[in-house]
Amino acid sequence: MSKKLRYSLIGATAVVVLVLTCIFAFSSCGTNNIIKIASRDATNYDLNLIYNDDTKSLYGTANVDYINTSDDTLNEVFFHLYPNAFREGATYKPVSEQRWSDAYINGDSFGSITVKNVKVNNKDVNFSVGGKDQDILVVPLSSALYSNSRTTISFDFDVIIPNVKHRFGYTDSAVNLGNFYPIACVYENGAFDTSPYSYNGDPFYSDIANYNVDLTISNDFVVASTGELKDKSTDGDKTTYSYKALAVRDFAMSVSKNFSVKTEKVDGVEIQYYYHSDSQPDTSLQTAVKAVSTFNDLFGKYPYKTLNVVETSFVHGGMEFPNIVFISDDLSSYEEYTNVIVHEIAHQWWYGVVGDNQNKDGYIDEGLAEYSCILFYENNPEYQISRQEILGNDLKSYILFSEIYGDLFENFDTSMDRELTQYNTEPEYTYMAYVKSVLMFDNLRQLIGDSNFAKGLKTFYKDNQMQFATRDTLTIAFESASDMPLKSFFDSWIDGEIVIVGN
Ligand SMILES: [Zn+2]
Repeated sequence: MSKKLRYSLIGATAVVVLVLTCIFAFSSCGTNNIIKIASRDATNYDLNLIYNDDTKSLYGTANVDYINTSDDTLNEVFFHLYPNAFREGATYKPVSEQRWSDAYINGDSFGSITVKNVKVNNKDVNFSVGGKDQDILVVPLSSALYSNSRTTISFDFDVIIPNVKHRFGYTDSAVNLGNFYPIACVYENGAFDTSPYSYNGDPFYSDIANYNVDLTISNDFVVASTGELKDKSTDGDKTTYSYKALAVRDFAMSVSKNFSVKTEKVDGVEIQYYYHSDSQPDTSLQTAVKAVSTFNDLFGKYPYKTLNVVETSFVHGGMEFPNIVFISDDLSSYEEYTNVIVHEIAHQWWYGVVGDNQNKDGYIDEGLAEYSCILFYENNPEYQISRQEILGNDLKSYILFSEIYGDLFENFDTSMDRELTQYNTEPEYTYMAYVKSVLMFDNLRQLIGDSNFAKGLKTFYKDNQMQFATRDTLTIAFESASDMPLKSFFDSWIDGEIVIVGN
């Protein structure tokens, strides 16, 4: 996600206090045909969706060919039901009080998901729905599921879409379908991760999976989606679109009667720009094309064939999903709009291909997406935005934020890997995951030098693709690239021990 803070001050310098100790590590080899390999041992989702625009609802049937990739034997499988965070009275609301009226422009509106007819291997099971916000579906398995074994879980679901400018919600501009279907929780350390929704950050964590999705919708809608369009058939006033996506972490769509589309191919990737009010669509598309080209060169190749950039209503700056990004249609300037395009596209590398647990490690994907914008501007000087300008703004605003929060909170916590629900406010999360993380990556670059930093990004991308990156794998990649000990560097930044002061 992109949450741009508004800076007005530039030109600060910093003294950064660091402690270093020696830890050496080595990177492992990447692979070439990464999608083919990653899709082989992944869960397969077959979704059939029917969208009803009169009721702003979606009826779905799901057939999930689930694979147990853990070493444990499973007796049940958990799924997130994210739309239930949008219910009236939800404990973990999708929007903070401060942003509520910006998001719900027509007043309160609520959404939900109801799951029924749950079967395992075609037999009815006694499923349950739990979690504080009825946001976890628990499916008992009819027999133990051993490591590397598969089982078939099927169910029907009804989704009510709220009127809200969010990842999941409809407005006059479009219907955003992000996090709208039951998605399997990640199983790790002997349990399913059932982290709730949070208005801070992107509260999502899901494994690489494969999708076959059919959407039936009125003919007058234009559909932007994760994956490749494989088939399209019209019956009366309805059209069914069939998408296939291999080795992706999630599946999202945005549909609208107002979208125009512009397309350009770069490095074998078809970039489609869906827009409804952008007065400079060709320029926006070119920014997307340059972003893909630049990041292909800097980090390693984007492995998918499609990337959709969608101008839509969204209360924050933008949102990333695999193969598709949402860009807010009410940003304050075109420069900011451009920046959000670049930031969200960078997430295809950091979040999409290289995943992380966004419930606690968002500083990795957000920090790298923000830093990728700096690298983009350095490599595309026609945008006339310098590294020094961005860092000066980040540093000055971080120091001001620290001063204010240091006064407000007695034990001001500057650690960067807390659970999303542990941040006191939205700005606190934003400053830690975005601004401080950018300062960390720039400090790293100064420490190990430009070429080692560039090599480290390539190593990190190659070694963590289709996996979940962590603080450890981040450290290992840059240690390998620089041949320098960096554990204490990352620990002191991430644990909040670093002291950042301006002069
Ligand atoms: Zn982001």
